Amino acid sequence: MNISVVIPLLNEEESLPELFSWIEKVMTEHQFSYEVIAVDDGSKDDSWKVIQALSKQNPNIKGIQFQRNYGKSAALQVGFEAAQGDVVITMDADLQDSPDEIPELYKMITVDGYHLVSGWKKKRYDPITKTVPTKLFNAATRYVSGINNLHDFNCGLKAYQKKVVKSIEVYGEMHRYIPVIAKWAGFDKITEKAVQHQERKYGKTKFGLERFVNGFLDLMSITFVGRYGKRPMHIFGTLGVLSFFFGILILIYLTITKTIFGVVGMTNRPIFYLGILTIIVGAQLFVAGFLGELIARNGADRNHYSIGEKINL
Ligand code: UDP
Ligand code: MG
Repeated sequence: MNISVVIPLLNEEESLPELFSWIEKVMTEHQFSYEVIAVDDGSKDDSWKVIQALSKQNPNIKGIQFQRNYGKSAALQVGFEAAQGDVVITMDADLQDSPDEIPELYKMITVDGYHLVSGWKKKRYDPITKTVPTKLFNAATRYVSGINNLHDFNCGLKAYQKKVVKSIEVYGEMHRYIPVIAKWAGFDKITEKAVQHQERKYGKTKFGLERFVNGFLDLMSITFVGRYGKRPMHIFGTLGVLSFFFGILILIYLTITKTIFGVVGMTNRPIFYLGILTIIVGAQLFVAGFLGELIARNGADRNHYSIGEKINL
């Protein structure tokens, strides 16, 4: 099978018929063998009924229904697990992403050999409250991830080699950082393609302003987990030891000034409290690192590595 199109959706009943027939048209025109995996993320409207009806007409349309709303990341993850195509393309269900991009994305993965191609909504049809924070968010993500050639990390339209989606795990609200997760897993041939973006035709956006707060917190955890998740002691231990010895030095200095130079009133000096504080904080950081290390040791994925190929095995 050439292509799996994974579509996470929440209450998008009006868009689905148009979206699916558009995808079908593009696929038949280019003679791709394909499947569409619609993941209904706990819709309260008739989205699931629409999917049922459409899948009767076209056996390439497959559906997975969540019993309740788990979020876009969960929907993508389940779609990734089910996908069988050589190239996996994700797309929002709200018709903001155009299926006409599929052939070019497919070519970039199969011919140009990219691991991941991310859409770039070069000209956006979204309100300014969304576009300005998004710029900041993308700049921060570029900076910490080192993926400097992406303008738009969170575009719903992306294409992947199959092995990429099979080796990464998306959860929580980590769908915003799939390129970062992919890079940590060793898939670093990442590029972008400027894509057409439409205004939302039906329904309304499912994410409010909290997306930016959550987004930045997630960015911090993902960076931390990526760098130190398997070796927490290296960061906490280093900081802890530095802080601890800094405090010791201060106290040695104070002791010398008192015993040798006879300065009185050591406990009234601000630096005395700084010395005590950094020793305590240092010891705590060290313990945090040690506990983190014990937890990492017991983590179910402690020996989970992203394997490229194997020979004779
Ligand atoms: N979506 C989802 N689960 C959620 C929220 C959103 O599956 O909890 C889907 C939604 O139906 C759409 C896609 O994720 O297909 C992107 O959502 P939306 O268009 O609301 O986001 P925006 O374009 O405003 O960033
Ligand atoms: Mg949208």
